[in-house]
Amino acid sequence: MDYYSNARQRTIFSTVPNANFIRVIIDRAIHRELDYLVPETLAERIGIGSRVRVPFRDKSALATVVAVLEHSDAQGIRPIEAVVGDGPILSEQLLELARWMSAYYCCPVETVMRSLLPQVIRRAEVGWKKQLFVQPTRKIDNDELEKLRRRAPRQAELLAAINELEAPMLAAELLRKTSLDNQTLRALVKRGFAELREGAVPRDPHGDEQFILTGNLELNAEQALALKEVMEALEAPENARPILLHGVTGSGKTEVYLQGIRSALERGRSAIVLVPEISLTPQTVERFKGRFAEAQDVVAVLHSHLSEGERHDEWHKIHSGHARIVIGARSAVFAPLKNLGLIIVDEEHETTYKQEEAPRYHARDVAVVRAKIEKCVVVLGTATPSLESYHNAVAGKYKLTTLTQRVDEQQMPFMRIVDLRQERRKGKAAAILSEKLRAAISNRLEKREQTILFLNRRGFSTSLLCSECGEARNCPNCSVALTFHRHMARLSCHLCGHTAAVPKKCPACGKDALIYSGFGTEKVESTVSQIFPTAVVRRMDADSMTRKEAYRETLRNFRAGKIDILVGTQMIAKGLHFPNVTLVGIINADLALHMPDFRAGERTFQLLTQVAGRAGRGETLGEVFVQTYTPFSPSIQFARHHDFAGYFQQELEFRERCDFPPFKHAVLLTVRSAHEARAKFSAETLARRLKETVGAEFILGEPTPAPLEKLQGQFRFHILIRGEAIVRLSRLVRETLDKLPFPEDVAVAVDVDPYQLL
Ligand code: ADP
Ligand code: ZN
Repeated sequence: MDYYSNARQRTIFSTVPNANFIRVIIDRAIHRELDYLVPETLAERIGIGSRVRVPFRDKSALATVVAVLEHSDAQGIRPIEAVVGDGPILSEQLLELARWMSAYYCCPVETVMRSLLPQVIRRAEVGWKKQLFVQPTRKIDNDELEKLRRRAPRQAELLAAINELEAPMLAAELLRKTSLDNQTLRALVKRGFAELREGAVPRDPHGDEQFILTGNLELNAEQALALKEVMEALEAPENARPILLHGVTGSGKTEVYLQGIRSALERGRSAIVLVPEISLTPQTVERFKGRFAEAQDVVAVLHSHLSEGERHDEWHKIHSGHARIVIGARSAVFAPLKNLGLIIVDEEHETTYKQEEAPRYHARDVAVVRAKIEKCVVVLGTATPSLESYHNAVAGKYKLTTLTQRVDEQQMPFMRIVDLRQERRKGKAAAILSEKLRAAISNRLEKREQTILFLNRRGFSTSLLCSECGEARNCPNCSVALTFHRHMARLSCHLCGHTAAVPKKCPACGKDALIYSGFGTEKVESTVSQIFPTAVVRRMDADSMTRKEAYRETLRNFRAGKIDILVGTQMIAKGLHFPNVTLVGIINADLALHMPDFRAGERTFQLLTQVAGRAGRGETLGEVFVQTYTPFSPSIQFARHHDFAGYFQQELEFRERCDFPPFKHAVLLTVRSAHEARAKFSAETLARRLKETVGAEFILGEPTPAPLEKLQGQFRFHILIRGEAIVRLSRLVRETLDKLPFPEDVAVAVDVDPYQLL
């Protein structure tokens, strides 16, 4: 039985009492579900979602129970070896979600499981952190205490404290409070006055922080209307459509989320808040923890920097029902909350919600499907809706609500477009800072206001060319030029991490004619420092922020006004609030625009709008300078006038004309191999087969070298298929792939709804 037919077999969800067979999915990808026998002694402890250890071939393997059966037709059925962990770790709803993901994203359900359940939970090897708790063995009266005081005063002091405990206390904590030592405690235990017991202590990553309870803010009319939509949906979630909350930056979307969650909690339900990893800052966490600070542990946080132990504890806090609000990045969409009432996807347009390895899911879309399965409400919030979501709203599949005003009644910043074609004639430095932008910065420095300069490219020079022979220094593993990083005085590849020494002479022709060209954030930082020698300039990108604290520190200093100009990549484009920033410069708006990707225009529009949202959150009107060689491109012009509707309309027309998403779904197949000819041949063979299997119903593209032809030593070919019935297409693609005997050294990746077309 293959896993696709399983996906449609809903009957196996029913639980059968006294069953002694189970069907499992083994953790390692084998694309099949297998049946096992359950010894009677273990039967009670097993249900759907339980974890078991089973014999598999000549080894043993971990597996998840997906069905409990009365009988099984399997041949040579073997008994399971053991039950792993304390109970089921997967609800039937999450299992259903896993099956949907498997069918939709053309990916074995075992692979889906790996994303759905953190490794630390699947393996069940890490447990709670155990520590010693102290408690009195019996009530001690004053006489006894006095007697002890004469012989051992310190023991008596400690015993008096223990005597007063209402509940067992962490031994270490008691000793710290009383300033007494372990030896004294041990003596009391020996005398039978006190006892020590092991207990679980949660490893709370925010345990040492205090959160002050904050109340609801009084909503403005638009916010109130948006909240009303959410409340009405919570009233009848089974009929509710997903809500698209389109609110400009600073319009108070988060306040609507917070009050929506409050309402879900009051109905006895739980909530998930997804935010892009980059926005999961201490301030964000604080806002949520603060609003729900009435009960400890009610908010759990899931992100990629948790230790295994912390992840274990947060997961169990959620699973056991202690935590009822989960805030986290992409994979928090799988948080094992019971009675889910509300899922919020903040910044729904963010492409980081898409996972770029199998299962290649999009957390926003998974959230919508999970909401349907769990009969709960889903809210997609953003200042710049994705075309997909906007289209769904226009088509009536989503309910659109808009917040058009900033809470502080601030005007949208003034956007000025700087035509770099004219600036170019004024010399090289002008391409980094045009005269107009330079004057604007100068003006801010005088007024002691702050500036953000944005460029989405790291490094100093983006290529090193020989002006004699024309040779560029390219990465040996990838088809891109190496970037020169001045601080480490090396060339580096941003795709595979390869680094190389900087040659003095051209290695190809031996001439001393190497020239640096193109620039990144490092060069912007140095140019700006030269032009404004008295200003404090700092850079924030993946190179300068290698330490975790560096990020917080720079932001703190910037907020405190100790930095005049902050130069950075997308790290600074998103969700940060700085009231004293009145100027934002976009150094080169064309970088995103000229990517070989049908979403290039959309990304540019979003980027400009997002970055612009950083300017002028205080009293003064903000200004944004957009430097570009293509000042009349629609994305730039519509963004300039803050004209969302106009932009969406023209972009949707373009997508429809070209049969691109959101009008058609796309599936991108990437065939890769270290041998170029083998990759090419395999791609051509695959395309021929696909023509027979999917050709009639779907739009099948020719196999072509990927825009990024070589990546990490692998040659890559693309086949793009477009169509509407995506689950059917997924199945046809899988069947075609299963039947093709690819050489060992050729790999094929299937990406449904791809966001990365390079
Ligand atoms: P968004 O999420 O849309 O960018 P926020 O929710 O972060 O906007 O709101 C921006 C600021 O306005 C925050 O400091 C927030 O506390 C404040 N705010 C939001 N709603 C209100 C309100 N109704 N009254 C007063 N202040 C508000
Ligand atoms: Zn490389």
